[in-house]
Amino acid sequence: MEQKPIINFGAGPAKLPQSVLCQAQKELVNYGGLGISVLEMSHRSADFSKILSKTESLLRELLNIPDNYKVMFLQGGGSGQFSAVPLNLIGLKEDKCADYIVTGTWSEKAAKEAEKYGKVNVVHPKLDSYTKIPEPCTWNLNPAASYVYYCSNETVHGVEYNFVPETNGVVLVSDMSSNFLSRPVDVSKYGLIFAGAQKNVGCAGVTVVIVREDLIGHTLNECPVVFDYKVQASNNSLYNTPPVFSIYIMGLVLEWIHNNSGTAAMETLNKKKSSMIYDIISSSSGFYVCPVDEACRSRMNVPFRVGKKEGDEALEKKFLEGASQCGMIGLKGHRSVGGMRASLYNAVTVEDAEALATYMKDFLKEHQ
Ligand code: PLP
Repeated sequence: MEQKPIINFGAGPAKLPQSVLCQAQKELVNYGGLGISVLEMSHRSADFSKILSKTESLLRELLNIPDNYKVMFLQGGGSGQFSAVPLNLIGLKEDKCADYIVTGTWSEKAAKEAEKYGKVNVVHPKLDSYTKIPEPCTWNLNPAASYVYYCSNETVHGVEYNFVPETNGVVLVSDMSSNFLSRPVDVSKYGLIFAGAQKNVGCAGVTVVIVREDLIGHTLNECPVVFDYKVQASNNSLYNTPPVFSIYIMGLVLEWIHNNSGTAAMETLNKKKSSMIYDIISSSSGFYVCPVDEACRSRMNVPFRVGKKEGDEALEKKFLEGASQCGMIGLKGHRSVGGMRASLYNAVTVEDAEALATYMKDFLKEHQ
């Protein structure tokens, strides 16, 4: 029986470009005529070295990364960086303190982890719901902080920054795991950016860290060696065995972004796809409800309830069943918030978003 086409709206690991999967499949058993798979390749071989340097130079080109930044490909996921960031950077200044802007699950977890290594100041009163970004003029930033940390896109709650926080010269750190390369970014405004690959740039297993050189070398003694940026940067991410296959897949995805005109083109498509879904939500007279403030609605993860503000459980179940029958999967919201979540990463096409929009319109007509 022929497999019906599936559209994956999952939050991550998420949809990859079809052409990337096909190329990986073609090369799986015999990469580049070498007679072995990348899965079997020594990380110290000349062939892997080419993959690694191609991946890094594509990333440098796509993000226009200045020369005084190091790029590392590490393991441990985004959560690993919740520890690695304070372990490497909180000692930048004597007070060993850091400012955190907490706008959702992921920045909350990062702040909690950082508390193990220094003083953490959440710069605004705790939010009672993660549906907005507190006004920057209300942030109580500490000039003695080693860094200011924020998550540019909260994957669970669908809260995304459309601006770069102003820190009055304090080093800025961002978790860009779920909107990395979905839009252009001025890397020079940041001390450090990190992103797990499994949403916009590949498969699970590798986390990109981009860090300004002068911030390296202030690591706390208790930092595990594999998380020490000085060690990893000076070994070109090869201090220990890196996730070779995940890096190879990332290289293919970066090539795909490059061949599709780069991050500005991704941004145009991402705006278009997310507007299609938000427009239906806004014009549904309260049948679909997105709890997030309009100013910070994510282009990557669109959370919404069906039927009423707090969600009509029976209708939401029906919505998911109907979507699944149309081949649309991964639409269930995160277990901590419920409802729906449509993830519209780079690899999700305009046609995919159109299919969801059509389904949402039909469902509305049938059940309003
Ligand atoms: N940061 C963000 C924004 C995420 O969405 C996630 C996971 O979904 C993480 C960090 C944690 O990543 P990992 O599961 O790779 O540790």
